[in-house]
Amino acid sequence: MLGNAKFILLGNNKTLIMVDNYTFSQHKHRYYYCSQRFKGCQAKLKLDQNKTQIVSLCNEHNHDPPVYKQMDSGLYFKI
Ligand SMILES: [Zn+2]
Repeated sequence: MLGNAKFILLGNNKTLIMVDNYTFSQHKHRYYYCSQRFKGCQAKLKLDQNKTQIVSLCNEHNHDPPVYKQMDSGLYFKI
């Protein structure tokens, strides 16, 4: 993974990719867009064919990173 990327599982069973505290949600196939794309943020990333590695990353955001807290269960919740 590039940077400090990791997959995180949310309480609603959704999986996001977190990179340097910013989160990306799946758009289609290997493409993930910033979770705050609705605010006009253009950050995005692309995974390799196995969907385990980031092969391209645009981590320029127009907002502060969202704050997530990891519960004892391992699930993440947005604060
Ligand atoms: Zn963003």
